[in-house]
Amino acid sequence: MLVGVPQFGELDERDRRLMRLAEALGVVCQAVPLEAAADPASYLKQRVPEDCTCLVIHPRVFARWLKGRPLDRGATRKMVSGFTHVLVHGLRADDFDNALVGALSGGSAKIEPMGNPLSQYAVSLHAGPMAEAFAGETFGPVNSQNDRVIRFAPLALTVEELILIDDRPFMARTRMGDTEVFFIAGDDVADLDRVIDVVEVEAHFSRLLPHAMVLRHAAGAECWRPVNQYASLVIDDPLLRMKYGYLNYEHALAQAKQWNFHIVTAFIPLNYRRSSADAARIFRENADRLSICVHGNDHAHYEFASTDTGFLNASYRSAIWRTQQHFKLTGVRCDPVMVFPLEGYSEAAMRTAKLNNLEAVVCSTTRPMELKTGVTLGELCRPAVVRYGGFPLFLRNSVAQMRRFDVAFRLFFGRPILIGEHHDIFKQTDRLLELVRTINSMAPKIHWANLATVTAGSMLVRKANGKEHVRGHARTLNPAALEESENPRVVEWAGFGDADLLKAVEIDGKPASAFTVPGPEDRIAVEVPAGARQAALVYRSSPEAVPATGLRWRATMMAKRRLSEFRDNYLSKNERILASAKAIQRRILNP
Ligand SMILES: [Zn+2]
Repeated sequence: MLVGVPQFGELDERDRRLMRLAEALGVVCQAVPLEAAADPASYLKQRVPEDCTCLVIHPRVFARWLKGRPLDRGATRKMVSGFTHVLVHGLRADDFDNALVGALSGGSAKIEPMGNPLSQYAVSLHAGPMAEAFAGETFGPVNSQNDRVIRFAPLALTVEELILIDDRPFMARTRMGDTEVFFIAGDDVADLDRVIDVVEVEAHFSRLLPHAMVLRHAAGAECWRPVNQYASLVIDDPLLRMKYGYLNYEHALAQAKQWNFHIVTAFIPLNYRRSSADAARIFRENADRLSICVHGNDHAHYEFASTDTGFLNASYRSAIWRTQQHFKLTGVRCDPVMVFPLEGYSEAAMRTAKLNNLEAVVCSTTRPMELKTGVTLGELCRPAVVRYGGFPLFLRNSVAQMRRFDVAFRLFFGRPILIGEHHDIFKQTDRLLELVRTINSMAPKIHWANLATVTAGSMLVRKANGKEHVRGHARTLNPAALEESENPRVVEWAGFGDADLLKAVEIDGKPASAFTVPGPEDRIAVEVPAGARQAALVYRSSPEAVPATGLRWRATMMAKRRLSEFRDNYLSKNERILASAKAIQRRILNP
């Protein structure tokens, strides 16, 4: 399967962006240079490669190529016959585009600009499998600069309205013989290379999702798609005691069981000797609902924003050692997934995490503290960001930041739904439980799980050259989470770098022979036999010396920690005292 993108003269910028999107989805695309021809329909069919099954029609390119004279219906039908899919994008309200859409839809059509900038998108249930979790959703406002609607003549071929704005199709499908023809009435295509840091789904939707939906639909199993859906609620800081601030583990567990969700306590390693026996028991006995992960080491002020690799190494080793001691004392296993205290980290902290063989990082901030620019839109359209130190950063958001279409966006691109909160979300659980119900209704098969399961399982799959390819992001991947297969799979990690520091690639704990794959990112791949449970990258530990952390430092950290706990347990429950405590703090900080 190949997508052919006609070009006349320079490749059009919108088509370039569309090709970039296709490439990110794993869809093979090729530009098809055109020259003026006496019989354009036959000429175009000769020019496209033989394995091209999807044709892109950008009216601006076709208008230049055809010198503004649209093809009649017969020639249009001849041109698109033989393609399984045709994608018409970049529509404007003008005569050429009207004639083109009319010819392709078997009637007449008129592209109209948007009247009301406050209008909403309504994704039709007809869009079903293509639109995935977006099907049936209504949200907005629309992008009135970019979006138009199509008014089809009543006698047009059967037109399926897939995305509507004010009851008029913004995206529609029709069939011409065996060809499915898609129309997207938007001017532009989103630029995946644009630095944005945060996806405002409603602002990007019409320039990104409809195109991605059509490309994925046309490419079928040959493009990257998520296979499993995961979610987790991460609560930062609590001690493993039955009660911490507003969090009461017994009540929270009952809610997690009743409403189907999983609570991860982001556990401060400094507290490794302070867990209570009854809280440890409730974690051990309900591992499917409660788990812990690593939250800093001392939880000192931005400790992982340090750029001193010696200090970072020492911190990771101390954190790992403490969580191991905690396991010996309590039997509660700690997932080697890091949630940075105060969401602050350096690029060095990401790389050092990798070299200490942690699995992944979960955080809400998209960039290290020392960097001015962050991630691109394209990086937010994959399960994890791997640009910092070649280590996976899985992004999380608070309950308030997670709206229905944010959930749909994450599910579409295989990003796990990670919610980050503190104990006070349990003060009034209505908003939390409403979000849990939303997630579970939009994704009935979603797995709520601990962070090791979530990060290892967030994989994309595609079929190419008769093989199943799996792309993962965490250090350890879990092919056993995929559908059973009798054939070996190729499992790959993209963007990991530091291949010289890689000690081994292991399958179920045994070294396997890996290979690198050429491409825009460093990719390490390994063929995994059927039935294998785990594939993992194993790094050599860092050579830097480990500075000793003195007793006085530890005592200071513990004193600070106890002050924070006092705030969570007592002050936060009395808002008046908390307000005056904050005021005093402000006065001290800003005299
Ligand atoms: Zn914290």
